[in-house]
Amino acid sequence: MTEEILEIQSLLAIPKSIAIIAHRNPDGDALGSSLAMQVYLEEKGHVVKVVMPSESPQTFKYLPNFGRVTVFDLEHDKARSILDEAEIIFCLDFNGLDRVDKLGENIQFSKAKKILIDHHLDPEPFADYIFSDTSASSTCELVYKFIVDLGDKGRINQAIGKCVLTGLITDTGSFKYATTPYTYQIASELKQLGVNDTEIQGYIFNSLKEKHLRLLGHCLANRMTIMPEYRTAYIYLNKQDYADFNIVRGDTEGIVNHMLMMENIDVAAFITEQPTIIKLSLRSKGDISVQKIAMKHFKGGGHKNASGGAVYAKLEDVIDRFRNVIPKYLPKQTI
Ligand code: 5GP
Ligand code: MN
Repeated sequence: MTEEILEIQSLLAIPKSIAIIAHRNPDGDALGSSLAMQVYLEEKGHVVKVVMPSESPQTFKYLPNFGRVTVFDLEHDKARSILDEAEIIFCLDFNGLDRVDKLGENIQFSKAKKILIDHHLDPEPFADYIFSDTSASSTCELVYKFIVDLGDKGRINQAIGKCVLTGLITDTGSFKYATTPYTYQIASELKQLGVNDTEIQGYIFNSLKEKHLRLLGHCLANRMTIMPEYRTAYIYLNKQDYADFNIVRGDTEGIVNHMLMMENIDVAAFITEQPTIIKLSLRSKGDISVQKIAMKHFKGGGHKNASGGAVYAKLEDVIDRFRNVIPKYLPKQTI
């Protein structure tokens, strides 16, 4: 056991008040890792509360304790006091305090022991303990490993397994990318434990509403541009599209990935006009790093093949910026 794990073991030896927080717009990995950790720690006798900066997609309502999550956007004071009163804060699935909005201040100035578990590139050193592994498929993979390293593999039950498998599935696009041998090992161990993977895949991928498919059709038919000489495709949605399709948070999840299904496309961008900002989701295949593009030009970051960013600008200007930036990163092809 490492020094760090030994210290954490003794920290967790007596019941504590613990807060868990993940990044804004929580996804399957942010929620899965947080709720897995909550179940694990509660069963060890701690008092554990999960806080998210913003609301979670209802897709994940099958996860244990989903309804108990405190949302900062909805309950400012409650969320702040949970962090202020915690003796330990777990920071899961994010690499910098700007990813948790204003709650970053409460973490920064808290006297609690902070434990960061994450797989994003370039983690900021704001925590007392940092378990960062950018080669891991997901934070869920690292949470599983964390519990095993603490000597508590026997405590991993179906509830924890459901959460962990959710993060593995969502962050690897159903085991299509970013997998490691350990990802499959965990999936295998969870299946052995009786976790119903088919049911979870169904919750995640077969839970669309009619409007989602119609919106996808609109994006692909009317809003997609291909830059064939740069093997790049992008889709934008403007405010009018948001109104026409009654788009709410989470409704656009996954649209960006469809562009990578084209054989001649290596980079995909999904650019959306939000009430005050323009948000970008970037994806790539192979060695092309969209993380660099997101960080340098769109105030964002993430992973090599999946990144995001957000800027205050006009939609048309962000599209122009994207079109101008791409040639700097991708060799021009003769087609
Ligand atoms: P998505 O495109 O699904 O919103 O995000 C893809 C990846 O990029 C995620 O790992 C997410 O954490 C990261 N990401 C998305 N938006 C931002 C952002 O505004 N800033 C940073 N640093 N990372 C982001
Ligand atoms: Mn993740």
